Amino acid sequence: MKNLNKKTSFIHKIIENFLKNNKKNTLHTRFPPDPNGYLHIGHAKSLCINFGLAQQYHGQCNLRFDDTNPQNKHNKYISKIKEDILWLGFQWNNNTKYSSMYFNKIYKYAIELIQKDLAYVDKLKKSEIRDYRGTLSKPGINSPYRNQTIEENMLLFQNMRLGNFAAGTVCLRAKINMQSPCIIMRDPILYRIKFIKHNKTKKNWCIYPTYDFAHCISDAIEGITHSLCTLEFLDNKQLYQWILKNISITTYPKQYEYSRLNLEYCTLSKRKLKLLIENNIIKKWDDPRLPTIAGLRKRGYTALSIKNFCYNLGITKQDNLIEMSSLESCIRKELNMKAYRTMAILQPIKIVICNIANHIQETINILNHPNNTEMGTQNIKFSQILYIETSDFKENPTKEYYRLSLGKTIKLKYSYIITAHAIQKDKNKKITKIFCTCHLKNNNKKYSIIHWISKKDIIPAEFRIYNHLFTIKNPNIKNNLLSHINPNSKIKKYGFINKNIINNLKKSRYQFERIGYFIIDKIISKKNYITFNQIVTLKKNCKK
Ligand code: ATP
Ligand code: MG
Repeated sequence: MKNLNKKTSFIHKIIENFLKNNKKNTLHTRFPPDPNGYLHIGHAKSLCINFGLAQQYHGQCNLRFDDTNPQNKHNKYISKIKEDILWLGFQWNNNTKYSSMYFNKIYKYAIELIQKDLAYVDKLKKSEIRDYRGTLSKPGINSPYRNQTIEENMLLFQNMRLGNFAAGTVCLRAKINMQSPCIIMRDPILYRIKFIKHNKTKKNWCIYPTYDFAHCISDAIEGITHSLCTLEFLDNKQLYQWILKNISITTYPKQYEYSRLNLEYCTLSKRKLKLLIENNIIKKWDDPRLPTIAGLRKRGYTALSIKNFCYNLGITKQDNLIEMSSLESCIRKELNMKAYRTMAILQPIKIVICNIANHIQETINILNHPNNTEMGTQNIKFSQILYIETSDFKENPTKEYYRLSLGKTIKLKYSYIITAHAIQKDKNKKITKIFCTCHLKNNNKKYSIIHWISKKDIIPAEFRIYNHLFTIKNPNIKNNLLSHINPNSKIKKYGFINKNIINNLKKSRYQFERIGYFIIDKIISKKNYITFNQIVTLKKNCKK
């Protein structure tokens, strides 16, 4: 398996220096998901970085759920997040951690800040706090409550803790600098009141720490050495350091930022993914069109292909939009080596070979993989009635059309050359049959090759073809995300697969020759009616 590439990473040097400076140092990272949705491929990047670095440098990586916000339906998502991490092949250090495990300690550190006159209870309204904070071009203004005595603040904070204030009426703020050029440092909120039951701490608390306050303390408590996060936390770094410097904690994790993964035609934000579900555009988080780990798994992506994609990205500070084709090429590369080949017809049209009798059938033995004889062989049948793709025949072809048309000869893959000479239509003028003649002798001329299946070999199947969920490359920069949904992101086709697949059901991913890679949807497939999800086409823009 691949590893994180040092050449495309700025963090390796930092870690190597850290390890060199003190022989006792060991690397300790963490992956801190907010349990408010399923993991997506952006999280896979973060997992590959945090777990990948820990593996590479014989360190440790914690899994810590950042469950400071009690509003979320934590339990529902915690088990799904764990499932996805394990499926990707990562194993966290010791027990699962939760920020809520540290609520008592975090509370004590808040008191320590109050006692050092570095925090105060503010009674300004939410909107006033916002107005007083100023803007990038306008410095903030001190709150009138900023100069309360330590004793007053202690009493007020205890009353907050006891539930003697209504939600939103008071909050605890750090006393830093309302004129700071960094807005985050303008007396950030450390604790707010929420009369909401927490799934872990139940009704123990009616005040909850903010992400910024809880995160650095949790990192320090766990002995994290390198706290890796995405670039949007760059400004929060000052606060991260300020908090740790001003509380009596003895470990000093350092924060490093890297660029988030942005992927074409996708949204990688749990909030926006949730919006798609709430608006009924997508039913579930594991829809194969979503860039969630569960969606990609259902789509047929392997853990290895996802990790290879992430490792190829490197660890940089450049924000860019990654092409969907680079994700696709990772799975294509893997399946090209591993997937069994077979012929399937997604939109069938019937061929009648007129010079072959109905009872005749010929068995053809073909390789399961053209370059790997160890993958064995399979038998297919050639007989009078065959099916080909509707798109492989044209009644009125253009000059460039190279497949079957009346009077034209083509080669059936692994089999004979045939010439079409007549068609039959139904009352709606739809072609129902193509009559052909089969040439038993090959005249060594080169013909176009098409795939086919014999009627004697077929099982009905449903094929779900997926296209991009959004019509534009970067839907995230638009505020009307939902108006850029691709109406053709999921297309169902009804056709046939070769019976051989039934004997080979342990394998779930196949290459359908000339079409692409597909995976059996084991949950909805029945014995005699198999449903497939398209993983990826054979090549970018490959025409069916
Ligand atoms: P979302 O917007 O999807 O909720 P988030 O950052 O709020 O993203 P968290 O659950 O808090 O999600 O993220 C856990 C970790 O994964 C964090 O360290 C975060 O920086 C990282 N992460 C999230 N999205 C991406 C991404 N697109 N690329 C790289 N890392 C990411
Ligand atoms: Mg978050």
